[in-house]
Amino acid sequence: MKPLKKGIRLPDFKYRSLSSPQIYLPEPARFITLLLNQHSGPAIKPCVEKGNSVFVGTKVAEGSHWNSVPLHSSTSGRVSEVTPTSIVIESDEADRLDPSIHIRSEIPTDPGQLIQIIREAGLVDLGGSANPTHVRLIQARSEGIHTLILNGCESEPFLTCDHMLMLRHPVEVLKGAELLRIASGAKRAVIAIERNKLEALEILNSKNYNLKITTVETATLPVRYPQGMERCLVETFAGRHLKPGESSLNVGILVENVATAFAAYEAISLRKPLYERVITVDGPCVVEPKNLWARIGTRPMDLLRSCKGLMREPERIIFGGPMTGEAIEHLEVPITKKVQGILALPSELANSGAEEACIRCGRCVEACPELLIPETLARAVRKNDIALLEEYDLNSCTECGSCTYVCPSKIPLAAVIRSGKNTLVKEEVHSKPAYVFSSEG
Ligand code: SF4
Ligand code: SF4
Repeated sequence: MKPLKKGIRLPDFKYRSLSSPQIYLPEPARFITLLLNQHSGPAIKPCVEKGNSVFVGTKVAEGSHWNSVPLHSSTSGRVSEVTPTSIVIESDEADRLDPSIHIRSEIPTDPGQLIQIIREAGLVDLGGSANPTHVRLIQARSEGIHTLILNGCESEPFLTCDHMLMLRHPVEVLKGAELLRIASGAKRAVIAIERNKLEALEILNSKNYNLKITTVETATLPVRYPQGMERCLVETFAGRHLKPGESSLNVGILVENVATAFAAYEAISLRKPLYERVITVDGPCVVEPKNLWARIGTRPMDLLRSCKGLMREPERIIFGGPMTGEAIEHLEVPITKKVQGILALPSELANSGAEEACIRCGRCVEACPELLIPETLARAVRKNDIALLEEYDLNSCTECGSCTYVCPSKIPLAAVIRSGKNTLVKEEVHSKPAYVFSSEG
């Protein structure tokens, strides 16, 4: 292994959610809104109508394309609204499970069958990309990979949902890792954990001592952001930096998240579709930060109630981590499968301050794990200099936010670069940063 040399050290702010040492069941929500665009890939369409009764786990939307994944109800009740973009379900508060959810007496070992089950359960990468898991597994099989890495690094501040899942459900994570390994065709699976989660490492190793799954092992990595990003993990394990555009599969590695391994275990062993996940609700504005079993489609305001609400007005509400997350406008935006956390940040953490001129200090270059020159890229985006953007490899940016974090001039480098990737804008990009975490915080 080759430890990540670039990247940055961040304050972790994880102690508050970890001090509530369980994954809690939130108070039930009256209404659930399931957005139809929950995965990256072809669109899906509702297969229920207004007035239909549904159970927890009933399929409510699906697509005809093999690369799409279906969507399942996360509550029991009645479909109260169907729109081209969402399905709203009014809960009957009875939490009746779909009859199809029950323990599978015999676990299949055929990769094709496992992949089919994973697709039908609506699994996507729960580490934030929302790529359909079955598509990644099929690609891995066709490329012939040797190693499956289960990402348990969780290197963004505040987030502890993966850490808590490994602490509380180590057996399920280990068994899920093995099932994904079989499905992917890899010879071994490695659960990668940063050194600040040694308790999780210990518990996984001790459980596996009894389970004796010899094809699943653990590895500890230094605490460094963005160690948990796919390309950084692959660089660590493959011992070399991936070239621009090069896939991890080219070096025989597939990266999935530990939460995806857990969901795969539930899908295969319990026939349970992906209708809930662990998320961290945290930030200095939250009274009692916690990890919750959040039903997909719940609104942040409902989940915050289970954390005793807010004690001060947040400047920003973020879905995900503070480095790569997405700022949301209000507390009624429903969570999707890819949301790992809800953070309520005050102004001192959310504001990056007024932008000043670049002082050519080079810190953004030192921090960039993709060996880019962020300042030049941001300047080229603002000038819409396409030739320069191509020369300096705009599309290699993984949007990790490290450059923004270290910049003493408070230039929202990552947000500018991201906007360039998305649109190649004609006008100057003003700072409404997607990256909201300030180094002054
Ligand atoms: S340029 Fe992109 S990859 Fe490099 S540090 Fe900035 S956000 Fe991360
Ligand atoms: S870190 Fe900021 S000030 Fe330093 S070179 Fe990069 S853009 Fe300029």
